[in-house]
Amino acid sequence: MAHDTEVLVLGGGSTGCGIARDLAMRGLDVTLVERGNLTHGTTGRMHGLLHSGGRYAVSDQASAKECIEENYVLQEIAGHCVEMTGGLFVQRPEDTDEYFREKLEGCRECDIPARVLSGSEAREVEPYLAKDVKRAIQVPDGAIDPFRLCVSNAMSAENHGARIETHAEVIDLLCDGDDIYGVTVRHDSGPGKRTHNTPGSTEDITADYVVNATGAWAGQIGEMADLDIAVRPSKGVMTIMNVRQVDTVINRCRPKGDADIIVPHETTVILGTTDEEVEDPDDYPEAGWEVDMVIDTLTELVPILAEARTIRSFWGVRPLYEPPGTGTTDPTDITRDFFLLNHDERDGVSGMTSIVGGKFTTYRMMAEKISDHVCTKLGHRASCETAETPLPGSENLEALWEGMDDFGLRSPVARRSKQRLGSRSKAVLETTEPNPVLCQCEGVTRAEVQDGISQSGTDLNAVRIRTRASMGNCQGAFCCHTVAQELHPEYDEATTRAALDELYQERWKGERHALWGEQLSQAMLKYALHATTMNRDADPTTSETAIDYAAFDGGHSDGGPTDSSVAGAATDGGRPRPEMRGPQQIDDDEARGGEQ
Ligand SMILES: Cc1cc2nc3c(=O)[nH]c(=O)nc-3n(C[C@H](O)[C@H](O)[C@H](O)COP(=O)(O)OP(=O)(O)OC[C@H]3O[C@@H](n4cnc5c(N)ncnc54)[C@H](O)[C@@H]3O)c2cc1C
Repeated sequence: MAHDTEVLVLGGGSTGCGIARDLAMRGLDVTLVERGNLTHGTTGRMHGLLHSGGRYAVSDQASAKECIEENYVLQEIAGHCVEMTGGLFVQRPEDTDEYFREKLEGCRECDIPARVLSGSEAREVEPYLAKDVKRAIQVPDGAIDPFRLCVSNAMSAENHGARIETHAEVIDLLCDGDDIYGVTVRHDSGPGKRTHNTPGSTEDITADYVVNATGAWAGQIGEMADLDIAVRPSKGVMTIMNVRQVDTVINRCRPKGDADIIVPHETTVILGTTDEEVEDPDDYPEAGWEVDMVIDTLTELVPILAEARTIRSFWGVRPLYEPPGTGTTDPTDITRDFFLLNHDERDGVSGMTSIVGGKFTTYRMMAEKISDHVCTKLGHRASCETAETPLPGSENLEALWEGMDDFGLRSPVARRSKQRLGSRSKAVLETTEPNPVLCQCEGVTRAEVQDGISQSGTDLNAVRIRTRASMGNCQGAFCCHTVAQELHPEYDEATTRAALDELYQERWKGERHALWGEQLSQAMLKYALHATTMNRDADPTTSETAIDYAAFDGGHSDGGPTDSSVAGAATDGGRPRPEMRGPQQIDDDEARGGEQ
């Protein structure tokens, strides 16, 4: 019987998008289904480190070698998503010489370029490093934008004929005895331009082969066919600081531990992280002390962080896996390598293979390996081209840096726009219309926002992850509304306001974990601007209910307010309005949406 598609990929994170691209480029007919938007899972909630492999050079050399190999590949094919900041493994007085030596040797064994810097040389590279830093190992770590990378992979897959179906949750596997031949998905509406099936409707999608790339959720898919896929989800917290205090990835040079990496990301730095096993990847505690611990510990490496402002925090869940019988108790010891679970050989169930574990940095290699496997299964002869073929936007990287003023924009803005857009810069920025900067923190112009809207429609969070508008220092205080305004007059006022609300709510999810000190004043300013200038609080001067300004007195110690009246106040003037939702009412689907 002919099936709807040749290969059905479950999951729209980096792994799933990479697989869809690889197989579509090999000429197969591919469909990808994702329950949320692209990057809805772990990929939208990670640290943004393009690993050199240095981190794993002592404890997990297989992963370290894969990381350095893919680090080079991604610089070539995804230049518009990568910033090669370089990285330092920094030794403090209490960190041992023995481990420093092991790290250096490990890097050399894994072919990771590594150079020792004295303390003063390290401080020349990063002036804000602590004075007592003894020495450092310099490695080719970088920063990478997970949103842009996933979107580029999905775009490339679509350009090669794939169907990318977001907001389509797999609710069952279609089985004929011990053969899996497809899935049932339940459709939902999604923001943005893409056409979705009727919300709540279900669809059976049949396929010659199914690939389970649902990361930390792979076990849940397995259960639908009584397959035991023992993923061990492990949560980690990340905190974003208001400015870019360092330009280099800073790692602590010690065996393992929490809070040992700082990644510069665009105009900010991201501090992280922790590693704690959780039962349910959709339901785990997010505690204020985790944020405090990360900031306090990393302040030992970069003391100026103590004076910096935290703008938001977020958590993600690693899809760790170890083969049965390994029995590791500490999640930091679980390998970061990836595994193909061929359910035919392993469980006697044909038609599906799962891919688990791995890193974002190695997503392309993971996709290549499983695509080879699927091609063998299907008897399809075609080789992988993803290591050589640039992603959309990344071709001709030199062009990014040429002619900074080509588009009549001042240089820093032009450079940042060109970095984001890559080889699409000319098409997007060459406009005869006025092109003001709408998001000043991130230097995002109207042309870029309009380009995002042309692709994502009213989904301003999709426009956000394409452009970074509202992701900078002010977290949208000065630009959410100017970005939303670009929807009008193509979309009516009600639609525009609803889209603006979605954008606010998404920003608030992370901001509520950072309500102390100057950031609390900043949040208050944002509230005041939006509540009063846009009448979102329905004019407090005539209102019977006064705004509860006291609600903003939340202290640092408890990690911010949890009481719903407080949370409501911060976005909504403390007045319950039926058409608006407080953060507590964000449903799970949104609550795990893209971060940073
Ligand atoms: C705290 C933290 C920091 C990290 N930092 C880094 C880093 O700096 N560098 C690095 O290289 N790696 C890092 N990682 C690891 C990396 O983020 C992950 O390995 C990678 O993103 C996993 O991608 P994935 O596509 O396999 O999973 P995901 O991104 O989780 O994708 C799986 C998708 O499946 C979807 N899904 C689930 N159930 C269903 C269903 N029933 N139907 C349809 N779709 C479904 C989910 O919504 C999700 O989008 C970090 C991880 C964590 C947790």
